[in-house]
Amino acid sequence: GPVLVLILGDQLSPAISSLADRTPDDTVVLMAEVADETTYVRHHKAKIALVLSAMRHFATELRQAGWTVDYVRLEDEGNSGSLTGEVARAIARHDARGVQVTEPGEYRLRQAMEQWREDLPVRLRILADTRFVCPLPDFYEWAAGRRELRMEYFYRDMRRKTGLLMEGDKPVGGRWNFDAENRAGPERGASFPAPPRFAPDATTRDVIAMVESRFARHFGTLDEFNWPVTRADAERLLAHFLKRRLPHFGRWQDAMVAGQDFVFHALLSPAINLGLLDPLAVCRAAEAEYHEGRAPIEAVEGFIRQIIGWREYVRGMYWLDMPGMAEANFLDATRPLPDFWWTGETKMRCLSEAVRTTRDNAYAHHIQRLMVLGNFALLAGLKPQEVADWFLTVYADAYEWVELPNVAGMALHADGGRLASKPYAASGAYIDRMSDYCGTCAYKVKVKTGPDACPFNALYWHFLARNESKLARNPRLFQPYATWRRMTDDKRRDYIESAEAFLATLEPAEPGWARG
Ligand code: FAD
Ligand code: SF4
Repeated sequence: GPVLVLILGDQLSPAISSLADRTPDDTVVLMAEVADETTYVRHHKAKIALVLSAMRHFATELRQAGWTVDYVRLEDEGNSGSLTGEVARAIARHDARGVQVTEPGEYRLRQAMEQWREDLPVRLRILADTRFVCPLPDFYEWAAGRRELRMEYFYRDMRRKTGLLMEGDKPVGGRWNFDAENRAGPERGASFPAPPRFAPDATTRDVIAMVESRFARHFGTLDEFNWPVTRADAERLLAHFLKRRLPHFGRWQDAMVAGQDFVFHALLSPAINLGLLDPLAVCRAAEAEYHEGRAPIEAVEGFIRQIIGWREYVRGMYWLDMPGMAEANFLDATRPLPDFWWTGETKMRCLSEAVRTTRDNAYAHHIQRLMVLGNFALLAGLKPQEVADWFLTVYADAYEWVELPNVAGMALHADGGRLASKPYAASGAYIDRMSDYCGTCAYKVKVKTGPDACPFNALYWHFLARNESKLARNPRLFQPYATWRRMTDDKRRDYIESAEAFLATLEPAEPGWARG
């Protein structure tokens, strides 16, 4: 019989390594929608719709290119509900002589595949995922023997390796990093480009109807569903980004504006993570905008750094530190996730906005994720595993290899500082500087303690105080700890009491939102 090539839901790339050495005449491609993958966390409805619609479109694309595709739908009779089950059924159905697959992005599935080696009646080949710039063995080599694994140094290697924004062995513009230019707050009167509309075709409409009925109780709405589900639509989104957003991307990268859910961000992570766009090609297209004089260096460098720097780096760190990363809890944070993370019902304007856009779009931009949601989780001492489940559930771009290092490492310092040299902890003043939220918030950002004060203010000191034994030696926290120690006892007590009064009001979430 033929060789069975299993293509996973986030492997929707014609150049995927599992197909590279195959020819259509001797291959059956298996794609399977399985209940296990749609419900192991109860994903946002829009995330399920996106993945399933993109899979169905990709199957069509493969068939048009001459491949035989055996596509198992969620609602098909006999669907075993698991990938393991579907591979076994397909081997029998096609009398396959072997199975091959590109390595999955999740540790959980990688472990399951090791077991397949034992259990399947035929040989299994697992191939490296060549859609990343940095192969995992190269990352392990980079990490070996280094005391500190800082993204910035890794990023420079990726610049040298790809030649992106390089003049010989020197960075274009004379500096590797232009972040100092990228910290503008919101400006009055600015206007923002509307993303292109991707009207759902018949396939997407079918999937949306199925998700509405089958996953009715999952978080999120489908009313605003507007993600590209084909390569052609993803290219259209990229073209829009290059023209309308990239030139302003840098300056606005850290800004938050009420009611403006996308600011100048790319919105490309769902398409890139699914495989609809190639990350390196995206970077080369952005680089060309700089060379053509259509986008400034700080925007293009900042954007390219997010992709060949951060994105590649967190992936390497994930595989380096799993399975420990999923259990890590350096700060011993144990508070359950508050209910308002699902309902959005809080008087804190910054957080209600973040939850609202998440529910409407399965999206929030980076600073909302890091400095509003992540910062709150860090300061309030929310349990990292509950926070990680939430992030994995709610975002259209969330796959564990990229979500977990960002949550546990970058936002929550649960890894003790392997990813980030200091916790991203900030009081209300930071959010006020970077957003227009505070002016319309029920809390007062300039008030430090008491019931009207912005909760971030007292939580910030509560966080530092309760973690003093673990964090006070961090040189980057020397200044805040010195300030804390200089305060009068009364002032310190006010902060602690205010923070505790606020924390006592948090209602834990009902069970079952993330894991059913
Ligand atoms: P832009 O801001 O326009 O950035 C451009 C591209 O750079 C993105 O499309 C993405 O591919 C890449 N990128 C930027 N920052 C990162 C980063 N820190 N890590 C990896 N790639 C990055 N990203 C995900 O793809 N999936 C997640 O599940 C995810 N969870 C996150 C959780 C937290 C707590 C934080 C702080 C960040 C998380 N990120 C995640 C990273 C980042 O927030 C998103 O990639 C970004 O918001 C996606 O929107 P965009 O395409 O508009 O990004
Ligand atoms: Fe958020 Fe505090 Fe500003 Fe309200 S005052 S929006 S809680 S930072």
